[in-house]
Amino acid sequence: MRILVVNDEPSMHARYRQCFGAPDATDPAAAQAGTNDLREFELVLVDQGGDAVDQLANAGEDQFAVALIDICASGVDGRQTAAQLRAIDPDINLVIITEPSAIGNAETALVAGPPDKICYIAKPFEAPQVAQIAGVLGRRWSSDRLLALARAELAAKTAALELQQRELAELARQAMHIANHDPLTDAPNRHAFLRALGEEAATGNDFAMALIDLDRFKLVNDTFGHWAGDELVRQVCAALRQNAPEDAVVARLGGDEFAVLFTAPGEQAAGMVCDRLLAACASNFQVFDHSLHASASIGLVLVEGGQPPNPIDVMRRADLALTEAKRRGRGIIRLFDEAMDESIRFRRRIEGGLAQAIANDELRLVYQPIVERGDLEIVAFEALLRWDSPDYGTIPTGLFIPIAEESNLIHELGDWVLTQALEMLQRWPDQYVSVNFSPRQFRRQNFVAHVVERVQHAGIAPTRLQIEITETAIADDAERAAETLYRLRQMGFRIALDDFGTGYSSLYNIRRFSLDCLKIDKSFIDGIGRERESAAIVQSIIHLARALGLEVVAEGVETPAQVQALRIAGCSHLQGYHLSRPLEADAAADIAHQRYMSPAVIKLPVAPGIASEASG
Ligand code: C2E
Ligand code: CA
Ligand code: CA
Repeated sequence: MRILVVNDEPSMHARYRQCFGAPDATDPAAAQAGTNDLREFELVLVDQGGDAVDQLANAGEDQFAVALIDICASGVDGRQTAAQLRAIDPDINLVIITEPSAIGNAETALVAGPPDKICYIAKPFEAPQVAQIAGVLGRRWSSDRLLALARAELAAKTAALELQQRELAELARQAMHIANHDPLTDAPNRHAFLRALGEEAATGNDFAMALIDLDRFKLVNDTFGHWAGDELVRQVCAALRQNAPEDAVVARLGGDEFAVLFTAPGEQAAGMVCDRLLAACASNFQVFDHSLHASASIGLVLVEGGQPPNPIDVMRRADLALTEAKRRGRGIIRLFDEAMDESIRFRRRIEGGLAQAIANDELRLVYQPIVERGDLEIVAFEALLRWDSPDYGTIPTGLFIPIAEESNLIHELGDWVLTQALEMLQRWPDQYVSVNFSPRQFRRQNFVAHVVERVQHAGIAPTRLQIEITETAIADDAERAAETLYRLRQMGFRIALDDFGTGYSSLYNIRRFSLDCLKIDKSFIDGIGRERESAAIVQSIIHLARALGLEVVAEGVETPAQVQALRIAGCSHLQGYHLSRPLEADAAADIAHQRYMSPAVIKLPVAPGIASEASG
């Protein structure tokens, strides 16, 4: 610890040395250096105030703890020196050695303060007293320094910690963002949307939720690639955000599905919001080099305040409404109503019952003759499925087939139908059987091999099986469908395009498919004699089909007038209640052997359990 002594009387220097227990002043080396190394103190003695200032200014790292200033010594202006020293070093302790009368001089304290760093010793002084005071001050000075060091270290550590904390907070914020946002669009994801839904529900206010799904998005992905699909999703999301109400939450739930949560006073207002959202989706998007026309379906749910609903339940309802929207032909908005819930429950019950139906022997096939227009020869029978449920009675085929088609049951059901139909062929002389295949059956992997295997197992020639498919089965993947049909037909199977005229394909398009016949949908036959358009459509279908070498079966022929009109138009085959209703197996076998329909044959008894067909 360094102590500076300012005094211009050399005799006094010796005295100071003594005070601090210095060796004899006659020691020339120590005297010359003006310093003396003591046990604890390093003493620096100077004569003038200016020297003291120099010492302090040049102390560098070796700062002084205490300066002893003999204020009344001649040539030293003690007060000025004290002020100068203080200006250089704010931490140094100043000990003023002075006449008793000058102790506590307010002016000195003023220029060289603070007061806790100035103390006074009255002259004449006792050596031990000076050493003791200097020692106390010096030690306090060192511990203050240590403390300051520790404080600085602590402050640095605190600053580092604060920085770390800020970095952690930023990381946590980023993690939160990732957990709650969709990386493709940066919109809130399903998780975040469900939370927002829960929060909105908890407020007890009215609100609305729209579930939006792009129509035929898969086609975009398949045709233009996933980059284009991603870009379209991004653009649609931006369009939705732009067109949603200001306070709405627009989320991407995944794939091409979006959800919008918004407040709307009532059904009409909510409907208008959805109209805007639908219009935003149904526009042309410039995706890379392509201009893609998108469209969407919307399921809408209105939640009235009061009883807070479960967010999952709101989602489920929106989903039901969306499914309905898609079922009704896409590009539309459907508002959820309780009947949808009921219809879902009903569908579930049907699905459950159907799963048991095969095992419980509740299914059977009926057979409707397909006859040649000229001499009414029966060339084939269409196999039609019937289900007599012990719980619900006879269930309309048009009702349970779509349900089976939405689940995997259609495959099991289809296999059963095919097996039965092929077995029935043994009972007919040479007619073929026409079996309906749903789009899902047709698109199944190894469909061809599967059918071939069944036919071989039954020991039947492929020419005796006609496969009826609808346009939907071949529309989605036309290339693959064309190949499947070609292979089937190469092997000798007959192919019929069912319900023709109700789908999208034009006669021009169907040229690429290997077909044997078109079945003109009943709705056109109904119109014959009533509407000019129907007659014209039927006429042109028959014309073009004949040009392509295809047979034409008119479905749902119910009146003699229709028979007459179809014969004139050149329709090759007829099917319908006027010729025969679908028949039970035994009746079908009988009539197959008779070969020709006659007016008497037309009046065969109706098979039990199919009375409902008369109306629909
Ligand atoms: P579809 O293939 O168009 O079958 C013709 C439907 O029209 C049958 O109804 C038939 O009974 C009815 N029909 C025939 N002539 C007339 C008529 O003159 N007037 C009226 N009003 N109706 C007539 P069904 O049997 O109820 O079958 C409905 C639909 O269910 C069928 O339409 C077909 O798409 C499907 N389907 C029936 N059986 C099967 C099957 O085994 N497998 C598959 N996948 N679908 C089947
Ligand atoms: Ca059919
Ligand atoms: Ca049909």
